[in-house]
Amino acid sequence: PAGSEAQSVLAARRPTRRLLVGDVPVGGGEPVSIQSMTTTATADVEATLRQIAELTAAGCDIVRVAVPTQDDADALSTIVRKSTIPVIADIHFQPRYVFAAIDAGCAAVRVNPGNVKRLDDKVGEISRAARERGTPIRIGVNAGSLDPRLLAEHGRATPEALVESALWECSLFEEHGFTDLKISVKHHDPLTTIAAYRLLSERCDYPLHLGVTEAGPALPGSIKSATAFAVLLSEGIGDTIRASLSAPPVEEVKVCTHILQSLGLRPRTLEIISCPSCGRAQVDVYTLTAKVEAAFDGFPHPLRIAVMGCVVNGPGEAREADLGVSCGNGKGQIFVGGTVIRTVPEGHIVEALVEEALRLAETDPAV
Ligand code: SF4
Repeated sequence: PAGSEAQSVLAARRPTRRLLVGDVPVGGGEPVSIQSMTTTATADVEATLRQIAELTAAGCDIVRVAVPTQDDADALSTIVRKSTIPVIADIHFQPRYVFAAIDAGCAAVRVNPGNVKRLDDKVGEISRAARERGTPIRIGVNAGSLDPRLLAEHGRATPEALVESALWECSLFEEHGFTDLKISVKHHDPLTTIAAYRLLSERCDYPLHLGVTEAGPALPGSIKSATAFAVLLSEGIGDTIRASLSAPPVEEVKVCTHILQSLGLRPRTLEIISCPSCGRAQVDVYTLTAKVEAAFDGFPHPLRIAVMGCVVNGPGEAREADLGVSCGNGKGQIFVGGTVIRTVPEGHIVEALVEEALRLAETDPAV
């Protein structure tokens, strides 16, 4: 099982403080949670709730919404009440929206020290309000909005500068006895991100929110995020993650889910293993795989399904799959547990796989 594999391959989770974002525990060895952020105008309550529902269905644990205007702040209480997952308010520039978010019952508030003007003067008041409502604060430092003083001192957004900014901001809250904090130090470069979080994890025990900021379009952005997260999580660093992609937020959730499942940090759902195709292929493997993927979207059983382009390496190569197909001569050999059980015309492969998957799920609900 993935969990025990993770224990033998990954370093133990680094001990961090535990806090509650709504009903989702973060830190203290709790499961690594997945976050995303809505792209709708928060003031458009209906659209925002619709997107939150899509994210929830995709497996998102915690959602963040932007609060750039008073109308957005006014929408928070309805969104918080109707969302089934915890809602974090993301505040830049305006300290008064921090109070509005706390009042609205947001599960946490994210502030960016580089972008919240006069935040330092307000920390006492914010700490008081947050403590009264039990609202954690995320100190979210981004390379692009680093404090100008630190930028001048370090020359650029180095790991040291990012960490110094975050810890300085934490110290202001600590002076007021407020420690319900989590931290992110995001950079667009995975190596800088890794170095920054390593340094941060040596210097504090707050739970850490991992992210490569402005990671880019779906493919390179996913790879950058996966690279940084895999290194850090394998070292036991990271309590909650977000992949920041220039793609619909549901894709971010899928990417994070794949990363956690690949590392054995989240139970597997359905997995499709498919061959890369080669000169022996007797079917268009890419199209067939896409059709299988679409047909099994949301299938609730954690089956491993193999799609193989030829019979040469069919069931043998995919022996560990629960179910699969190997193709040849316009036909598909459907195999279960490494044994061919039937042969169907190419046009019926997807249908046959779904039938067999349902049969397997029925006979063994644990698959
Ligand atoms: Fe090539 Fe067949 Fe292997 Fe696919 S299963 S990569 S087609 S040899």
